[in-house]
Amino acid sequence: MKAIRLRAGKERSLLRRHPWVFQGSVDKGGADGGETVRIEAHDGSFLAWGAFSPRSQIRVRAWSFDETERIDEHFFDRRLRAAIALRERLAIASDGVRLVHGEADGLPGLIVDRYRDTLSAQFLSAGAERWRVVIGERLCAITGLARLYERSDSGVRGLEGLEPRAGWLHGEGATELEITEHGWSLGLDVAKGHKTGYYLDQRDNRRRFAELVRQLGCGRVLNCYSYSGGFSVAALAGGARSVASVDSSAPALEQARRNVQRNGFDVAACEFIDADVNQTLRDALKAGHSFDAIVLDPPKFAPSAAHAERASRAYKDINRLALKLLSPGGLLLTFSCSGGIGAELFHKIVAGAGLDAGVDGFILQRLEASPDHPTTICFPEGEYLKGLAIVRR
Ligand code: SAH
Repeated sequence: MKAIRLRAGKERSLLRRHPWVFQGSVDKGGADGGETVRIEAHDGSFLAWGAFSPRSQIRVRAWSFDETERIDEHFFDRRLRAAIALRERLAIASDGVRLVHGEADGLPGLIVDRYRDTLSAQFLSAGAERWRVVIGERLCAITGLARLYERSDSGVRGLEGLEPRAGWLHGEGATELEITEHGWSLGLDVAKGHKTGYYLDQRDNRRRFAELVRQLGCGRVLNCYSYSGGFSVAALAGGARSVASVDSSAPALEQARRNVQRNGFDVAACEFIDADVNQTLRDALKAGHSFDAIVLDPPKFAPSAAHAERASRAYKDINRLALKLLSPGGLLLTFSCSGGIGAELFHKIVAGAGLDAGVDGFILQRLEASPDHPTTICFPEGEYLKGLAIVRR
C-alpha cells in the first residue's frame, strides 16, 4: 500500500473528518489516479484511507478514517447500503430520489439519482472512477434495478484529469423517463437532460411553492430558469391562472411544455420563452408588466468563493429586477446554488437588491435542498443550495 505523508500541521482537517487533502498539504508520496493510499501525518501516524488524484488540486479524498477498514468491494457495498437506507427512512414523496450525494454519504465524487426504475450516476473523482464497475454492480444488486445510465460528462471531471463519458453502464433502452413528484407526472431524459436528467434538489421547494401560490392567491406567475418546468407545474397545481417559463435551453422548454400537458393543465395559459432571463426581466419591466409570483433559480454563478464578488453582482441584478416586477403582496422564491455564496451572504445580496429596487419584503421562509441531498457536520462545503421565500410589502 502506498502512503502519502502530509506536511507538519496539515493533519488538522483530516482529524476533524474533513475528507479533502489539498495539493499543498502533501509532503511526499504519490500513486496512480484513484489508487487507494494510506494518508499519514508528518509523524507517520495513520489519518485516513483515501483515493489519490495526481492531477487535481484536491490531491486525496478520504474514503475512511478507520484504520481497520479495507477499501474493497465490501466497503462500497456497506457505504451504498447505508446511503440508500437513509433515503428509505426519509419517506420521500417521489420516485425520483438522490440515493448518493458524494462526500455527504462518504463516497466522494459519486452522485447517484434514481428515477423510478432507472439509476443515473456521475463518477466525478479519480477514486469514484477507479471503482466505477464495482460501484455500478453493487448499485444494481442493492436496488434490484437493471438499468444504470452513466452521466460522467460533467466539466468537473476535467479537474481530475478524466475524460467525459456517458452511456448505459447496465441495461439499455429508452432514456426518456417519467417520475411522479408530489403526485405530478414529470418527464425527463437521463441522456439529454442536465446533470443526471433532473433537479431533484428543488423537490420540496416546488411543493412549498404550490402551497404558497394557493395560500396567497397568486394568479400570474413567472418561472425564471425554469428548466423542464417543475416550478411551472407546481404553480399550476397551486391554482395559478397563467405561467410564463423562461430558459435559454429550447429542449428544456419543450420538456416543460410536455410536463404541463402531462398533468392536464391548459398550455394556452402558459408561455415558454427561450431567452436570457436578465434581458426578459428588463423587457418586462419596460413593458410595465407585473407578476404575483416569481421564481429565480439560476445556474451556479459562483463555482467557488473566488468568483463570489462577480456572482454577487449578477444575483443582485436579477433579484432587483424581480422585486420590481412583483405586484404588492406578491411572492418571490429566490435561490443560489453557488457553493461560494453562503446563506448569510445571499441574504445580504437580496437585501441590497431590495434597497436598490425600493422594495421591502417579509421573509416567509429560508429554503434549502431536499433532505436526500444532505450536508454533514464535518463537510460544510457540501451545503450549496439556499433560498428565500419573500412576500413583497
Ligand atoms: N428551476 C429548475 C432548475 C433550474 S437549473 C428546476 O426546478 O428544475 C438552471 C437553468 O437555467 C437551466 O435550465 C439553464 O438552461 C438555464 N439558464 C442558464 N443561464 C440562463 C440565462 N442566462 N437565461 C435563461 N436561462 C438560463
